[in-house]
Amino acid sequence: MSTYARQDLAFERGEGSYLFTADGRRYLDFGSGIAVTSLGHAHPHLVQAVQAQAAKLWHTSNLFRIPEQERLAQRLVDNSFADKAFFCNSGAEANEGAVKCARKYFAVSGKPEKFRIITFEGAFHGRTLAMLAATNNAKYLDGFGPKVEGFDQVEFSLKAAKAAITPETAAIMIEPIQGESGIRSVPTEMLRGLRQLCDEHDLLLILDEVQTGMGRTGKLFAYEWSGITPDIISLAKGLGGGFPVGAVLATAEAAKGMTPGTHGTTFGGNIMSMTAGNAVLDVMLEPGFFDGVQKRSSYFMQQLVMLKDRYPEVIEDVRGQGFLMAVKTKIPNTEFQTALRDEHMLGVLAGDNTLRLIPPLTVPEKDIVEGIRRLEAACQKLQDKSKAAA
Ligand SMILES: *Cc1c(COP(=O)(O)O)cnc(C)c1O
Repeated sequence: MSTYARQDLAFERGEGSYLFTADGRRYLDFGSGIAVTSLGHAHPHLVQAVQAQAAKLWHTSNLFRIPEQERLAQRLVDNSFADKAFFCNSGAEANEGAVKCARKYFAVSGKPEKFRIITFEGAFHGRTLAMLAATNNAKYLDGFGPKVEGFDQVEFSLKAAKAAITPETAAIMIEPIQGESGIRSVPTEMLRGLRQLCDEHDLLLILDEVQTGMGRTGKLFAYEWSGITPDIISLAKGLGGGFPVGAVLATAEAAKGMTPGTHGTTFGGNIMSMTAGNAVLDVMLEPGFFDGVQKRSSYFMQQLVMLKDRYPEVIEDVRGQGFLMAVKTKIPNTEFQTALRDEHMLGVLAGDNTLRLIPPLTVPEKDIVEGIRRLEAACQKLQDKSKAAA
């Protein structure tokens, strides 16, 4: 179906931070398949792990124990606030699972009237029918029938969240950094305030870490920066390093309603995706991995800020944390994307007239230097053009 406005570009292979077309053109990939290929393309450890598993066994279903799944669940639990994990195939599906988990928690706690979820303006939670209601973007909802009941979207503030709480509210759901709407961070104070609201009003706090999770911000999970812990998080994008996989992590208490038969999936948690997830964690849990991400991403941010100072007619703002960054442009972001693509460099468009720069977490410093060089070349051409026009 014609659901995508695709760029006329196709790639044949990848290596680290680079993608190659069939005719041999090389692109610096600071889009990472929308924050998915967290360890770059063709990472030797991931390739080896998935190839070896592919020769042994692909799929058995959740009718049987899956040791590779138990292992990934245990490792995610050991490295987070959570006690329990459920695996699925995508971000939207992970968010659906998170919301089901929260509603079931209240149902088995004798409070079935608590089912409503508060979400925030600018959110993106996915494209399933319920997540369209959670996202509440008219552009995505239009033409798809009645909006799913039970989601109350409020202005992006603590005050608005507080005002929206009713006896029917079950949970507050938020992205620690809104990704699709242009890299808007939830201030730490607001996140702490939301945690407090949840505690005071008997609500669960759900963090959508589909984009921010798995090291994107320089820690394994973005909530770690805030000092608070959520009750439930959703993961996907970077979790499989390019292999489709999602997860819901929760405390034992929040997951107490998720008993046998309450939720399920045919593909979710299958051996191939769990092998990919474990291989990703092998790399990320190496000592010093996140220090490296923080160090190289700070350097990149510093260089971007300098670029903004040199090209004020082109770049209005740079923002983000870790390798989840965006430049807000003075010209249309699509023009900036095209100019950058002419320099054989890729980013991903986002809201608020931004272009996301989300390289692999493993991007070496020399590729960052090269990225800045290409960004600078694009900025120079755009600035010359705007001067010529003026
Ligand atoms: C991408 C994304 C989703 C949706 O993930 P899909 O795998 O496309 O369903 C949900 N939430 C956030 C924050 C995302 O960035």
